[in-house]
Amino acid sequence: MNVAVDADKCCGAGQCVLLAPEVFDQSEDDGIVILLDPSPAEEFHAAVRESAAVCPGAAITVAERS
Ligand code: SF4
Repeated sequence: MNVAVDADKCCGAGQCVLLAPEVFDQSEDDGIVILLDPSPAEEFHAAVRESAAVCPGAAITVAERS
């Protein structure tokens, strides 16, 4: 799995950080998402997919790979 974030679309809602704190963080200044791990381990995939699904800015892109 490859994860990408578009900071321009992020509105700082923080859903992703709540769901997958191992993969996403937020800037202390403006709350904009920070991608901690662009290729997270298997155990985090479900939380990352859910983060992408609930992100109000559609800022998270997930690309599956084998
Ligand atoms: S859920 Fe989306 S809008 Fe909210 S902080 Fe994460 S990337 Fe940004």
